Amino acid sequence: MLDALRQPLEAGHVTIARSGGVARYPARFLLVMAANQCGCATSNAASGCTCSPLTRRRYLSRLSGPLLDRVDLQVRMDPVSRSELLADSRHIEHTHTVAERVLVARLRAADRLAGSPWRTNSDIPGRELRDRWAPARTALVAAERALDAGRLSARGLDRVLRVAWTLADLADRDRPVADDVDEALYLRTGVAA
Ligand SMILES: [Zn+2]
Repeated sequence: MLDALRQPLEAGHVTIARSGGVARYPARFLLVMAANQCGCATSNAASGCTCSPLTRRRYLSRLSGPLLDRVDLQVRMDPVSRSELLADSRHIEHTHTVAERVLVARLRAADRLAGSPWRTNSDIPGRELRDRWAPARTALVAAERALDAGRLSARGLDRVLRVAWTLADLADRDRPVADDVDEALYLRTGVAA
């Protein structure tokens, strides 16, 4: 069932065909998924998972590769200790502060995309990301290596580039630098460039 989300995730609309005709509905949404690292709901051996590697793999394989290929940020969260929670609360940012930063970044992107059919980085088609809005070649070294090694698909590269643009917007940069592309790659694959 989850895989039915693949088409709207990519196209931003759903097409429903019935005997009476074909209808197309807008379906632009933000998909957030969460899963345990194992079906037993404990995260690792230290916290009590004694399942076999096969059991763990089988559980995670319920999220298909093609669906995950369309998920831009894939972050592994480890359990947080009480002391970490308390320490974090002293440095925590207020939601308003974060929202302001996001707004500024979105305005920056909208400004750049003015006059184009697109409003946000996620709207930009792949061919434009590799042409008119391509980062400098030197910024792409790690991403191209990941592509060559099969750790990143062609679709994945486009998605990394869109996230890199957003990181550049958040940092008030005119174009993604290697740090932006590498961070986007890390957020997607969990592998430091
Ligand atoms: Zn387990």
